[in-house]
Amino acid sequence: MKIKMLDLSEQYQSMKKEVMAKLDEVMSSSQFILGDNVKQLEADVAKYSGVNYGVGVGNGSDAIHIALQAAGVEAGDEVITTAFTFFATGGAIARAGAVPVYVDIDPVTFNIDPAKIEAAITEKTKAIIPVHLYGQMADMEAIRHIADEYNLVVIEDAAQAIGAKQNGKSVGELGTAATYSFFPTKNLGGYGDGGMIVTNDEELAEKARVIRVHGSKPKYYHHVLGYNSRLDEMQAAILNVKFPYLDKWSHSRRERAAYYTDQLETKLEGIVQTPVQKQGNYHVFHQYTLRVPKRDELQQYLKEKGVATMVYYPQPLHVQPVFKELGYEEGDLPETEKAAKEALSLPMYPELKQDDQDYIIEKIVAFYENAFEKEQKSVEATKELTK
Ligand SMILES: *Cc1c(COP(=O)(O)O)cnc(C)c1O
Repeated sequence: MKIKMLDLSEQYQSMKKEVMAKLDEVMSSSQFILGDNVKQLEADVAKYSGVNYGVGVGNGSDAIHIALQAAGVEAGDEVITTAFTFFATGGAIARAGAVPVYVDIDPVTFNIDPAKIEAAITEKTKAIIPVHLYGQMADMEAIRHIADEYNLVVIEDAAQAIGAKQNGKSVGELGTAATYSFFPTKNLGGYGDGGMIVTNDEELAEKARVIRVHGSKPKYYHHVLGYNSRLDEMQAAILNVKFPYLDKWSHSRRERAAYYTDQLETKLEGIVQTPVQKQGNYHVFHQYTLRVPKRDELQQYLKEKGVATMVYYPQPLHVQPVFKELGYEEGDLPETEKAAKEALSLPMYPELKQDDQDYIIEKIVAFYENAFEKEQKSVEATKELTK
């Protein structure tokens, strides 16, 4: 038995003809940079996000960096975010010359806790980056409220959450801008790197368009410092083929998540904590992430049984060596640090088979039966000895 975290091969086989035809079209046209496919995807993804503008860029990390720059974040500004995220969130802030300020998470959703944001705001605070982790949106209404009060920019890191909603509003509607990644493993993934900024702010969109081409406007004249970060035409062509299936895939992910949750809650109630979808949220389950006791032992056990799992993320950003100079210490963000020790993501993708899910669930149940039996035995043995 071998179950991967994610298997992209079946999906490719199902759309191979369409993809190949599109790629042939691009290659025959010789239009490889910022052509019609990029324009079409920008329009479609912006509309899908309920906003007017989309700007395709090289990857999801650059999307955050460029969005910050286009929103006017400058050297020395502070940007509030979560430390329980992929490195790129903090990395993009630092690359923009700004200072990441890490705020603890809501233990229920793993997302930034809005109740802790205000205490982190200073004179220098310019922006907030909520990350919609695992496919569930952070509390955008609360964040919007704080941002309005303190006149802050909000960039939603939606790399894991394309298609997610909150009280009927899409990713991108309540933020100043939202950023997507089309990395192959994301819910809408290309066959290489890609990313996009979506926004209703026309000026921000225009600045982002200039920054992605070296800050060149008019051509060969540079008023701002940009760099080369464009969404590739071939990737856009592939993504245009995949995009119409996105809602169906999100639905499949949600079905698989519901199955895991139903089974695990029946069989391991009170032992593992299944993901919580907060009221009003439409979770798109980029990851299906549990909180579990004996996490590392469970992961090792599942590995031996042929089941891949992942820890997203074992080392929070505030204690990453590269951010040492920010002065954070272990203990500063207790909920973040606790989550980093307990979170375990199970295999999750739209084509995941129910038989595979059954096998995974069976092995998790077996692990805890063994683990608790052993513990019971050692308690009894200790009792024997101390008689
Ligand atoms: C994947 C990811 C990114 C970065 O996207 P890339 O396209 O890989 O650069 C940023 N933030 C989060 C939360 C991500 O999961």
